Amino acid sequence: MHKNPSIKCTVSECKYHAQSDNYCSLDGIQIGKHENRATTPECTDCNSFELK
Ligand code: SF4
Repeated sequence: MHKNPSIKCTVSECKYHAQSDNYCSLDGIQIGKHENRATTPECTDCNSFELK
């Protein structure tokens, strides 16, 4: 599967994950946050995620 070497990702449940490798296959992704003010990595999300 095509992989984007600029986007490392370990979310194998996502349909855009490059499965054999820990990379995303999209050309670009949208990152967001689910807190008013992000203070830790856990406050951020990949909003391009879609369940496989
Ligand atoms: S869309 Fe987001 S969660 Fe899905 S593989 Fe790409 S970076 Fe990972």
